[in-house]
Amino acid sequence: MTAWICRTCGVQQADTDQPPGQCPICDDERQYVGWGGQQWTTMTELGADRRVVVREEEPDLFGVGVEPAFAIGQRALLVRTGDGNVLWDCVSLLDDAARDRITELGGIDAICLSHPHFYGVNVEFADAFDARVFIPRADEQWVQRPSPRAELFDDDAEPVPGVTLARIGGHFDGAAVLHWPAGSGGRGALLTGDTITVVQDRAWVSFMWSYPNLIPLDEATVLEIARRAERFTFDRVYGGWWGRIVVADGAAPVLRSADRYVARLRGQRPTG
Ligand SMILES: [Zn+2]
Repeated sequence: MTAWICRTCGVQQADTDQPPGQCPICDDERQYVGWGGQQWTTMTELGADRRVVVREEEPDLFGVGVEPAFAIGQRALLVRTGDGNVLWDCVSLLDDAARDRITELGGIDAICLSHPHFYGVNVEFADAFDARVFIPRADEQWVQRPSPRAELFDDDAEPVPGVTLARIGGHFDGAAVLHWPAGSGGRGALLTGDTITVVQDRAWVSFMWSYPNLIPLDEATVLEIARRAERFTFDRVYGGWWGRIVVADGAAPVLRSADRYVARLRGQRPTG
């Protein structure tokens, strides 16, 4: 039996003899089936010409990515604390070098995921490091590879002491963020995947129901995302890709980005 990985979204399915007929994540209106039709791979195949890279983002925070990039090209983040480590989001490959490096860094106690597009091979990571996996109840239907390690939560969870996993919705009903108060020199960091996405002008963020198909969210949802993020104290926002970081002034860019978005939804146009 093989746990097949979708080549478009990078999410691993439950073990089957033959590849599944379709990928429910990509069949959803928020994603898309690859232009060449549904294609599958395996971790063994991916490991033949790709590797996992682990790079320090700041003290006690390490990016975990795949090179060359695969599927949607995200990088995960490993948060180290004195009370345990959290893997935030996931990628589609775990190789021996990454396993050794992550073990050196203290391993993984809990895996938390911003939303289903970043589920990757989370069960491989969970099994390798004997980690708990936190899944929002609102997104339970999107779990592709079930595991007895998965634990459902409603609105908030504390994967390790002092770190908060919060469902703030929007992109998916269960879309979540991770608040790491010790991040950014003790000023706090918010890890967002693309629940809140850091855009090319890194003084701003944005929010979408679908990123590849550019389907926006409604006003009430955007305001609710900003309201739920605002309860946290943070200085940096770490989006889901290398370099997508708001490097200062964390809450203010989220709030002004929500205000700008809502203004456009209301028909207010930029001047000039
Ligand atoms: Zn897919």
